[in-house]
Amino acid sequence: MQKVLQEDDVVHIGYDVFQVSGSNTNWVIIKDGDSCTLVDTGYPGDHDALLASLDAVGLSPRSVVAVLVTHAHNDHIGSAERLRLACDAPVLMHHEEVPHARRIHLNQVSTGQVLAQAWRPGVIPWAVHALRAGGKAHVPVLAPQALPAMDALDLPGAPVPIHTPGHTAGHSAYHLPDRGIPITGDALVTAHPTSRRSGPQLLHDMFHTDRSRALDALEAIELVDAEVIAPGHGPAYRGLPKEAVALVRTRAEK
Ligand SMILES: [Zn+2]
Ligand SMILES: [Zn+2]
Repeated sequence: MQKVLQEDDVVHIGYDVFQVSGSNTNWVIIKDGDSCTLVDTGYPGDHDALLASLDAVGLSPRSVVAVLVTHAHNDHIGSAERLRLACDAPVLMHHEEVPHARRIHLNQVSTGQVLAQAWRPGVIPWAVHALRAGGKAHVPVLAPQALPAMDALDLPGAPVPIHTPGHTAGHSAYHLPDRGIPITGDALVTAHPTSRRSGPQLLHDMFHTDRSRALDALEAIELVDAEVIAPGHGPAYRGLPKEAVALVRTRAEK
C-alpha cells in the first residue's frame, strides 16, 4: 500500500526544516540550498511519498547528501537502502544500530506481543496498516555507516547526534542547534495509533527493547536548548524539551 503525499503532510517547522508525515511515521528534510540531509525514510510503502516530499520542497533524490537514521525499525528505514543506491548517499547511524540495520538481528515488536495487546483500541488497525505498509518486509541497509562522531556532523543543518538508547540499543536523536530543533525519532513521540493520548509521550511498552533505558534517555533530550521538537510519530511539539520530557515522565508513571 503506497502512501500518497498530501499538501499538508509537509510542515515547515523551522528555518529550512520540513517535517513530513508519512503513512504513520515522520521523516525530516533539512535543506541547505539545493542539498539536504534526510532524517529517517518512513515505511517501505512511503517511498513515493518520500520522493514527492523532496519535490515539494524543491529538491530531488540527488539532493540528498546523507540519510541519518534514528533507528532501524522498518517504519524509519523503509527507503534507506533504495536511497543509498539511487542517490549514492551514505546511510548513517549510531554504531550500535549498524547490526540492526543490516538485520544481523531484529529488535522489533513480535506478533505475539501485538496479539497480547489486541484488545486495546487502535492496536489492530495499527497492525493491519503496519503490515500493508511493509512493516514486516525485509528491507536491510546493506552498507550502513557508523556516525563518525557524536558531535556536529559536516552535513546540511550540522546535526548533532544524541545517543538515546532504550527504544533500540543504538537509537539516536539528532539536534539542530542553529535551528533549535531536536529530531527525537521514537525516543519521544507526540501521538501514535495505539495511543489515545496526544502530546509528548513514550510509545507503548511493547515497542521498546528496554523501556527503563528509554526513560533514562530522556535526560539527554531534556537538556537540549530548543523551542520545537520533531518526533518520529505525531505532530511537532512547540515548547521546551524540558517541559515535554516532564510530561512524558508523568504519563509514563500512570
Ligand atoms: Zn521504532
Ligand atoms: Zn517508529
